[in-house]
Amino acid sequence: MSLSANGIPAAAGDLAEPSLDPADWDQFRELAHGLLDDMITHIETIRQRPVWQAPAEETRQRFTRPLPNGSRELGEVLDDVRTHIMPFATGNLHPLFMGWVHGAGTPVGMVAEIVASGLNMNCGGRDHAGLVVEQQIVRWMSEALGYPDGASGLFLTGSSMANFVAVTIARTEALGQSVRETGLRGERQLVAYTSAQAHSCIAQAMQLSGIGSANLRLVEVDDAGRMLPDALRAMIAEDRAKGFWPFLVVGTAGTVNTGAIDPLADIADIASRENLWFHVDGAIGALAMLSDSLRDLFKGIERSASVALDFHKWGQVPYDAGFLLVRDGDAQKRTFAQPAAYLQRADRGLAAGETWPCDLGPDLSRGFRALKTWMTIEALGADRIGQSIAHSCMLAHHLAKRLERHPAFELKAPVALNIVCFGIRGSDAEFVRTLVLDLQESGLAAPSWTTINGELVVRCAIVNHRTTTADIDGFMDILTSTLADRGVWS
Ligand SMILES: *Cc1c(COP(=O)(O)O)cnc(C)c1O
Repeated sequence: MSLSANGIPAAAGDLAEPSLDPADWDQFRELAHGLLDDMITHIETIRQRPVWQAPAEETRQRFTRPLPNGSRELGEVLDDVRTHIMPFATGNLHPLFMGWVHGAGTPVGMVAEIVASGLNMNCGGRDHAGLVVEQQIVRWMSEALGYPDGASGLFLTGSSMANFVAVTIARTEALGQSVRETGLRGERQLVAYTSAQAHSCIAQAMQLSGIGSANLRLVEVDDAGRMLPDALRAMIAEDRAKGFWPFLVVGTAGTVNTGAIDPLADIADIASRENLWFHVDGAIGALAMLSDSLRDLFKGIERSASVALDFHKWGQVPYDAGFLLVRDGDAQKRTFAQPAAYLQRADRGLAAGETWPCDLGPDLSRGFRALKTWMTIEALGADRIGQSIAHSCMLAHHLAKRLERHPAFELKAPVALNIVCFGIRGSDAEFVRTLVLDLQESGLAAPSWTTINGELVVRCAIVNHRTTTADIDGFMDILTSTLADRGVWS
C-alpha cells in the first residue's frame, strides 16, 4: 500500500472498507436475538440460581489476556459472556439480595438500554429527542417532589455525583460566580452541616469542591438516627460567633445505615432563617414520594433548594441513573455553563435550544439515561412503582416483627423505611461477621453488616421489587437453621 507523507493511505482502494458493522446482518440478528432470549430467561429464572457466587478462577484468568489484534466470531464472544459474566454478577436481581441499597432493574429497563445504545445519542446537548425526554423527567420529578415550574434537573451517574454537583452550586451561589475563576481565597471560611449519619459522599463533595471536609459539621442525631434541629441551630450560632460562613445544610431522606429521615421541615425553617442552601440527599428515599402511604414522612422536601436521588435504587431503573433536581435552574447554569465556541447555540438546526445538559453539570458527552427512566415509569406507572416501594417497607416491618418474636434476635434500630438492622443475642462482632460472610458465600441470601453505636450488626436493605413475604419467611428459616447448625439458639 502507498502512504502519503503523513502516513495516511494514499488511495481509498488501499484499505478494505473499514466499517465495523457485521458483514452478515442475518447472522448478527440471530445471535443478538439468542442473547436477548437468554437474558430474559436469566431474569425470569433468577430464583433458581445462587444469590451470588465469586468469579471462578477460570474466569479471573480469562480476563488477563493481552490486547487482541484480530477479530473473533461474535458467537464465541457471546458464549464468553454466558460462561464468564452472567453467572458472576453482583446478585442484586435476586430477591434475597439485601446487603446494600441496590435496585433490581426490570426487563423493560433492559429493553430501553438496547434502544439507548442502539441510537447512541450524545445527550450533552443539541436539538434531539434525548433532551426532550430528559426534560420530561425533570417535570415529572418536579411534580412528584412539589417543586415549581422553572426547576432544572440533570441525570448523573449517581447520588454521589448529584450531591457533589449540588455542593458546588451552593458554593457558587454563596460566593458569587467569580469563584469559578478565582477559586476559594480571601473569603471567610465556608462551613456546611449534615447529620452524623449522612453518607460519606457528602464529605467527599466538600473535598472535591475545594471547601474541605473539615468544614463539614456533623450534627448530632436522635436515637432513631435523625438530625437534631436544636443541635443544628446551636452549631450555626457557634460558627457565626467564631466568624465562619455557614452556607449549606444537607438533610438526608433515608440514611444508608438505617433508613432514617431527617426532620426536613424543621431543617427547611432553619435554612430559610439562616439563609443556607438546603440540599436533600434523597438517594434512597426521595422516590418514596411516589407512594401515597409514605409521602408524609418527607414533609419539607418540597421546600429544599435541591434534591439528589437515584432512579437505580428504589426506582428499579438499570444502572446507572442518578439525578439532581434544582429549584432555581438559573443557579445551576451560573455554576456550570461554559462559553466555548463549539458549544454555541443557534435559533434553529442541530445547535438550537437555550439550555443544554452540559450547561447544568460537569459532563459534556453523556448517554441517554433518561430513556430507561422514561420507559420504566411510562410502562409501569408511578403508582405501581410507589406501591412496590411501600411493599418493601411493609416487608421490612414483617422481617422486624419476625425477628422480635424470636429469642435469638434483637433489633438494633427502628425500621423507618426498608432497612432492618439486628443483632444476635450473646454473640460478638466476629460471630456476626462470619455469619454474614457465610450466608453470602452459601448463595442462599446476601445480607451485610453495619456499625450502630459502635456495635457490628446484621443489615438487611429490602429494595428489590421481586422480594415477597414468602422470601422473607424463607430468609428467617435460613437464619434460624444456620444458627442451629452453629449450635446456638437451636
Ligand atoms: C447510595 C447512596 C448515596 C450514593 O449514591 P450513588 O448512586 O451510589 O452514587 C448517597 N447517599 C445515600 C443516602 C445513599 O444511600
